[in-house]
Amino acid sequence: MADNVGNSDARPDPELEGKFGSERPALDEQEMAEVMAPCGTEGVAVPVGHPAGVSMDRQRHGGARSVGFRPGGGEAAIAYEERTGIKAPRIIAWEITRSCNLSCAHCRAAAEFGHYEGELSLAEIKSVIDDIVTISNPIVILTGGEPLMRPDIWEIVDYLHEKGCMPVIGTNATLITEDIAAKMAEHRIPRISVSIDFPTAEEHDAFRGQEGAFDASIAGIKMAKAHGVGVQINMTVTTLNHTKVADVHDLAEELGIDAFHIFMLVPTGRGSDLLDKELPPEEYEKVLTWAYHRQKTSPLHFKPTDSPHYYRIIRQLAKAEGKKVTREEYGLDAMTRGCLGGITFCFISHTGDIQPCGYFDMQLGNVKEQPFSQIWTESKVFNELRDYSLLKGKCGACEYKAVCGGCRARALAVTGDYLASEPYCIYEPPGWTGENPGE
Ligand code: SF4
Ligand code: SF4
Repeated sequence: MADNVGNSDARPDPELEGKFGSERPALDEQEMAEVMAPCGTEGVAVPVGHPAGVSMDRQRHGGARSVGFRPGGGEAAIAYEERTGIKAPRIIAWEITRSCNLSCAHCRAAAEFGHYEGELSLAEIKSVIDDIVTISNPIVILTGGEPLMRPDIWEIVDYLHEKGCMPVIGTNATLITEDIAAKMAEHRIPRISVSIDFPTAEEHDAFRGQEGAFDASIAGIKMAKAHGVGVQINMTVTTLNHTKVADVHDLAEELGIDAFHIFMLVPTGRGSDLLDKELPPEEYEKVLTWAYHRQKTSPLHFKPTDSPHYYRIIRQLAKAEGKKVTREEYGLDAMTRGCLGGITFCFISHTGDIQPCGYFDMQLGNVKEQPFSQIWTESKVFNELRDYSLLKGKCGACEYKAVCGGCRARALAVTGDYLASEPYCIYEPPGWTGENPGE
């Protein structure tokens, strides 16, 4: 099937363009947000209820059906959109500290152990939450660094619950003890995400820069699960491990994990040191094609992340199989969009800088100087990212731009222009002449 990707036989239904439009997707983004584990962070998808008893049916295509996931947003988001015409943030990744006990090679934050100057205080964080809930009640992914390094994390979690938001945690899991796992359950954390990049301790530890990290993460995962906290495994795919994706998937399945998210490297933060380890675009395509086929039988829910063209590939491969990408068959994979940075998702740094996602290396404002809600509403960059007609190059000409959009962070990192073509997509839209629409 990989050979079909990008060729004319695998092009989408003509109705696709009609269905999703050329400007904005005619999607229920409330539903979209239900399953989005966004990129630019150790994203976490969020099941309803806590901590146990989550029943996840399977869509016919395979994988845990995403129906039943709690959307972020709520009434405040609906009112905000009615008032402004702008979608509210449904999911916010919040780097509550940059301190970390590990030094992973691909880290977006390039985090180290120790205190970082200028981190938001608990009082500042509460004040930002007070402002956020004037426009949305999002899922908030507490990330880092290592968020469990922050001593007041449980106060932050409780305050988010109190204000109607849903906190989840992206962690390396090495600090999860019985006590921490019990606290996660007590403070109603529905799911954590944990990065596992290799199927063996030796390889994982070398990549993570710490001996014993693999065993500690696996122990933490088991403890979280024993306390009824859902677990998702994230795997960052590079030339170092792209042949081991199936093995890590199988490990996740053995551990009884809920979801498996493949991350493509975005060359920012410490990850820029791994630029030469980034997969060539053709290899990315193969991994994403593997994900499409493996999802048919895997009990885990997949969400390839930082790889928005997966949503193009789904449609091409389904088309080649004579199928339509419907919600019944494909669950909410049929409804979601590849890149939501600045659209229904954003990132808050440890010092309060706002970015479309953690990998998008541009600060659009700071919550110490301006309310979050004002930055979300008024930022020129956010507003440009929301207007798909501004996309340039292949992405601008592409019939999949409403469901994909290309990775804007990668475009920014490679070309300096966040509206330029996604550099790691092999697809050539029909009729595209190499000219740059939009420029
Ligand atoms: S050309 Fe751009 S919009 Fe089209 S599939 Fe590739 S990355 Fe997505
Ligand atoms: S720009 Fe979009 S696709 Fe790329 S890492 Fe950020 S949110 Fe993900």
